[in-house]
Amino acid sequence: MQPTQTQIVVVGAGPGGYAAAFYAADLGKKVILIERDKRLGGVCLNRGCIPSKALLHAAHTITAAREAEHHGITFASPSIDVTRLRTWKEGIITKLSGGIAQLAKMRGVQVISGRGYFEDSKTLRVETEQGQQFINYEQAIISVGSKSAMPKAFDLGNPRIMTSREALEVEDIPENLLVVGGGYIGMELGTVYATLGSKVVLVEALDTILAGADPDLARPVMNYAKRAFKEVRLRAKVSKMATSGKQIKVEFDVNGTKTEELYDRVLVAVGRTPNSADLGLENTKVTLDDKGFIKVNEKQQTDDPAIYAIGDIVGGVMLAHKASKEARIAVEVITGENSSFSGVTIPAVVFTDPEVAWCGLTEAEAKARNIEVKVSKFPWGASGRALTFDRPDGLTKLVVEPETERLLGVGLVGFGAGELISEGAFAIEMGATVMDLALTVHPHPTLSETLMEAAEAFYGHATHTFSKKREDRQ
Ligand code: FAD
Repeated sequence: MQPTQTQIVVVGAGPGGYAAAFYAADLGKKVILIERDKRLGGVCLNRGCIPSKALLHAAHTITAAREAEHHGITFASPSIDVTRLRTWKEGIITKLSGGIAQLAKMRGVQVISGRGYFEDSKTLRVETEQGQQFINYEQAIISVGSKSAMPKAFDLGNPRIMTSREALEVEDIPENLLVVGGGYIGMELGTVYATLGSKVVLVEALDTILAGADPDLARPVMNYAKRAFKEVRLRAKVSKMATSGKQIKVEFDVNGTKTEELYDRVLVAVGRTPNSADLGLENTKVTLDDKGFIKVNEKQQTDDPAIYAIGDIVGGVMLAHKASKEARIAVEVITGENSSFSGVTIPAVVFTDPEVAWCGLTEAEAKARNIEVKVSKFPWGASGRALTFDRPDGLTKLVVEPETERLLGVGLVGFGAGELISEGAFAIEMGATVMDLALTVHPHPTLSETLMEAAEAFYGHATHTFSKKREDRQ
């Protein structure tokens, strides 16, 4: 069969791949998008961002109803129909993935359902249900993403030992759930199951949960987890697991002391590994780092001049919007623009209760890299809006370059922090100073005021907190 000719082939239709395919088509390129899954949208849409946020929304509804008791409103205990919850969540995924397929069609992007494999630097073989198909391309964009890491010692083939993929299916609500890993996925899914009724024990090898977040931002989440989970066990490792009837026997190692416990289910959330195997990359000039991530420069170019790579497969911050931004950069470089990823601000959000969000330089990072910064904070206990939500457990902080007063970083923890962080990202991208933020009138009463007040606090005159005026401003 004659190979199909195209200008751009995109392998993998996650938030990196479909964003790249759509943008390239919008810029007039002939594009083919390859996806091995039945549904488009990648991990993010099918078994990541979207299903987890749907379940977290359900969990928040339960928490909000429970907490309404403080305001004199009492609801009966929730009755949870897991089948309907799953159907609702699946409906969202079906709607969104159908929307992506529709948008591909409207743009003239040809979608081929099958597994891509590089024959050489110019040819991709696609294995479809109907047989093999060959594609000759001018440029390829690899966006094949990542999968949950499953250490060999835990990989018993027992469905009760889950990754996030299975946990998001909500087969049942286990009475006792062990979550291995206190990163964002473990914390988010731990929150879902604890709220649905499981007794959750979370175990983390480090001395903190949410390792990337500043400690003062992670603290309110830890406080929540201490209340909502049965236990949060830091500096502890799981060394072994074994099937024990309908349960999992788990061996823990805390400073060399071994103990055993039984769980109904275990969620292993210890990181993600790149999908770079079985892709035929050895037939191209693409190179990998020692963890299997594809090496790229700031223009998303691999070591093969015809091949670009974006998203989780290139490592770094493994988030959907990072993948979509890299998609735009790859397409712009292909179409002759001088675009680059360097200096791009990628916000991070952890959708726990409360949410944590940050962008730019964190305080911890500044300290580790010996960068001199000034930090200004505004506690949400002083925010009228936070109190009307009955959520004073928040903090807004600004990380500032002392000489120029330029904003280098913004950190937030609190109810809805994920929605607020974009103002920080925008300010940093615009090269805003703290004064710019202080001078921008924010509507009252809103949580966004905490950003303005943190900026005012930098100068010692936030309306709703008192601080001694800075000497150089008196
Ligand atoms: P992916 O989304 O992984 O897509 C890659 C696609 O390539 C897949 O569809 C795969 O089937 C396909 N593929 C692989 N190999 C081949 C091949 N050989 N041929 C054809 N197709 C192939 N990020 C956020 O920003 N916000 C969140 O709230 C968030 N929540 C998450 C929650 C969970 C539980 C998980 C697991 C992840 C979450 N993420 C979140 C991370 C986010 O899902 C990823 O960063 C994002 O999906 C990466 O996009 P991508 O396009 O690089 O790859």
